[in-house]
Amino acid sequence: MSNRNDTAVRQAILISAARPGVAQWSRMEAFLRERYGEDVELVWQKDASLRNGFRLEIGDDVYDWSLEGRMRQLAHHVHEALRGAGDVIPLLRSAIEEWQPEALAQNTGTVLTVEDGIATVSGLPDAFYGEILIFSDGVRGMVQNLERDEIGCILFGDDSAVEQGSPVYRTNRVAGIPVGEGFLGRVVDALGSPIDGGAPVEAEAYRPMESPAPDIIARQPVNQPMETGLIAIDSMFPIGRGQRELIIGDRQTGKTAVALDTILNQRGKDVVCIYVAIGQKASSVSQLVNSLRRRGAMDYTIVVNASASDPAPLQYVAPYAGCAMGEYFMEKGQDVLIVYDDLSKHAVAYRALSLLLGRSPGREAYPGDVFYLHSRLLERAAHLSDELGGGSMTALPIVETQAGDVSAYIPTNIISITDGQLFLESDLFFSGQRPAVNIGLSVSRVGGDAQTPAMKRATGSIRLDLAQYREMEVFTQFSSDLDESTRRQLRYGQGLMRLLRQKQYHPLQQHEQVILLIAAQAHAFLDFEIDEIESVAQRLLAHVSEAEHALCQKIDQAGSLSPEERAQLKDSCVDFLSAEAAKKKDVIRDAKRP
Ligand code: ATP
Ligand code: MG
Repeated sequence: MSNRNDTAVRQAILISAARPGVAQWSRMEAFLRERYGEDVELVWQKDASLRNGFRLEIGDDVYDWSLEGRMRQLAHHVHEALRGAGDVIPLLRSAIEEWQPEALAQNTGTVLTVEDGIATVSGLPDAFYGEILIFSDGVRGMVQNLERDEIGCILFGDDSAVEQGSPVYRTNRVAGIPVGEGFLGRVVDALGSPIDGGAPVEAEAYRPMESPAPDIIARQPVNQPMETGLIAIDSMFPIGRGQRELIIGDRQTGKTAVALDTILNQRGKDVVCIYVAIGQKASSVSQLVNSLRRRGAMDYTIVVNASASDPAPLQYVAPYAGCAMGEYFMEKGQDVLIVYDDLSKHAVAYRALSLLLGRSPGREAYPGDVFYLHSRLLERAAHLSDELGGGSMTALPIVETQAGDVSAYIPTNIISITDGQLFLESDLFFSGQRPAVNIGLSVSRVGGDAQTPAMKRATGSIRLDLAQYREMEVFTQFSSDLDESTRRQLRYGQGLMRLLRQKQYHPLQQHEQVILLIAAQAHAFLDFEIDEIESVAQRLLAHVSEAEHALCQKIDQAGSLSPEERAQLKDSCVDFLSAEAAKKKDVIRDAKRP
């Protein structure tokens, strides 16, 4: 320090974090010459804390051009300027007096370690859980662990750009996602950026990915149907708008197909669909998008994709991002259907993150809060009260089981969170019974209230009939001589099961389901072989839809069906099917004639 006040040869000290360039150096020398004459020697001194700007000291003269220095000067200046102004702007004055430029310096942290998409950062004592931090190269990260001297952060993006010692900046914002009408028809990543090669999307708003679920006061009972178009589901396990219905089953049992058909069935019904793909192969997702697009379903659908090749942090946030997008529409009063395909992979991604963050593993190595991971997501599905616009968000989470084991950790968690499950079974699927809904293990706890009167009246006792059939099937497996009534009941059950089969991409309208159910319960299919049922059913639908056009329209639009109308439909079905059966007998008799 002694040389600072050395007056014989005046020395000027330039203090900055990085050595100045040649041009800067000569500009500085020119400045000094002009101010202090020829006999000034310029030396450089390093100070890593001066990240923005520099300081120049000559004897007692200090030129502070660092960021903090400039801020201090500004504050001082404004203070001085206001001094004579009396009480004109006391608020402004107090605000400026409270302002401390030093606080700014705390907003920069330093990367301690970075590995596998996880960074630990020191020097951001005020960062909060869930806050977004900016790393070098614009990589974003999210605060997940808050410890005494460091914070753990998950990185969204390429972690190779982030190096040990590189700076980290706070944003004071939680993770958010752009939302808006513009996203309909688009495929986006977990952060809302389009990945379908199309133009950028103009967002109407930003929403936090995580937000609290609507409370009880904000909700109303689930009382409108969300039709899947699958007769096995709509008749026995009806889903209501705002409900959460789990689709669960082993791999390759048609889980995605059920969700996909449900999306296809929303065509023209003013429902916004969101499909969140988590940890799937990019090729499967693009196939799914193609098949939605070919069938005109992308017009009202958003696909959020965090594929298996994306880093675990992106897979972790994807469902929350999709949910936030859905909430935007729900709060506008629209109905939303959201599919999470699937939450087992989501839990696995979260487990990977948690282990890397050093959280202690619990059952099946999942972290202790894995239940909360899914409950806080699924709780956000709701049917909002009329004061809040009456919108709804129906959630169809998908879970993959191993060898049909529904008692594993993640399946039991999600079963207990949701309002029912559709259990899809491999054996049924491979025997050709598709959709492979296991009628004994599936349930829908709230959707019954949402069924239309027409569906309720048509469904009748079909679930019970099928339960009886399955029991009888087991009992009679080995007996050869069955009495006529048992044989008829078995035939009836087999016929019902056959009617519940449905080709993929062929959702049925409500009136079609009503016709099939009424005809089946009138035992009108008993005159046909099991293998004939599919084609007979097709002809029946074509005929009755035409003959009872007005009634069918009423069922589709108003969802109502009076007992008289049911009888009328039943007569129409029975007449047609008896005529068909008679025709068949004639054909057989003709064939037998010599
Ligand atoms: P993964 O576990 O791989 O996700 P998944 O359970 O989602 O499988 P899907 O991909 O939906 O099963 O279906 C598996 C295969 O079965 C697909 O090829 C699909 O086309 C076919 N499939 C699904 N449902 C039906 C159906 N109702 N009729 C005919 N084929 C079907
Ligand atoms: Mg699938």
